[in-house]
Amino acid sequence: MIPPKSALRHRAVWQKELAEAIVDPAELLEILGLDTAMAAARAMGESFPLRVPRAFVARMKKHDPTDPLLRQVLPSDEESRTVSGFCGDPLAEQRTMTVPGVLHKYHGRVLLIATGACGVHCRYCFRREFPYGQANVGAADWRAAMDYLAKHPEVNEVILSGGDPLTLSNHRLARLIEALRGLPSIRRLRIHSRQPIVLPERIDEGLVELLSDIHFQTLMVIHANHPQEIDNSVRTGLSRLNAAGITLFNQAVLLRGVNDSADILVALSETLFAAKVIPYYLHMLDRVRGTAHFEVSERQALVLMQEIRARLPGYLVPRLVREQPDATSKTFIG
Ligand SMILES: *Cc1c(COP(=O)(O)O)cnc(C)c1O
Ligand code: SF4
Repeated sequence: MIPPKSALRHRAVWQKELAEAIVDPAELLEILGLDTAMAAARAMGESFPLRVPRAFVARMKKHDPTDPLLRQVLPSDEESRTVSGFCGDPLAEQRTMTVPGVLHKYHGRVLLIATGACGVHCRYCFRREFPYGQANVGAADWRAAMDYLAKHPEVNEVILSGGDPLTLSNHRLARLIEALRGLPSIRRLRIHSRQPIVLPERIDEGLVELLSDIHFQTLMVIHANHPQEIDNSVRTGLSRLNAAGITLFNQAVLLRGVNDSADILVALSETLFAAKVIPYYLHMLDRVRGTAHFEVSERQALVLMQEIRARLPGYLVPRLVREQPDATSKTFIG
């Protein structure tokens, strides 16, 4: 729903764009010149509705129902299929959560669920059933998260995740960073965000200023799955972050019908690096209910990795990993 203009007057450009994201499958299909009858079968959107910023839609090919960007966001009938091995919380994250919103699974770094909100709803999302309502540090539990970090001086890196931490306003982010500043053991701040891709306007002056003005070493891990996601507006945002001294990495998810080809993965790495982003992880799909149609087998993934290793310098080859409930790090495959 688009809020009335008066309510938007004091919002940043990106906040307007976020509020005006497409949530109606029929509208999305119409913009793309596709049969809107397809929308009738999109009932799956009810529990995890369609949400996609217009800036991302502008990069989709018209009249192509198999467009890789469209496939990532359009609800599909296949989501209602029950497939054994796919469940609500395959990573047992809710067990890892020591304090609401705080995931301390790996040594030395802690992941904070800064918010449940996201600028886009990716159909394969591993946290699509995450109980954000009770578990995010943006709410009342913020102080509990800081107390936890104060009691764990071995943690020197804080990862802001979500949802998407860059759906928080610059003001909220500044307050969160201010609270972290009080903790002498924190040396690095890492932000995991898909906003630089789906809503590049988010990288505004205020954010760049805020992130250049902190004493932590700052990293951002963006999330692009296909080279077509990176256009000039994305490049502009990334170069601003880069100019602010933020180290940029990318994580992608290996997705059937989106990027399960060596040509696409090679082009993705090349395109990212041209924008000074280093390929970091290529994730195997987390087996969350409703996402089985995106799964690529481990055997096929290994074949793809062999092909891209033969075509790229080592620093452009992402690490193929899987997240496992009780492991002490991501599990490297191959
Ligand atoms: C992935 C993840 C991290 C970060 O892992 P790195 O290997 O450092 O990128 C940290 N905490 C949790 C809970 C994670 O899932
Ligand atoms: S951006 Fe990340 S957290 Fe948000 S819906 Fe997509 S995969 Fe999930």
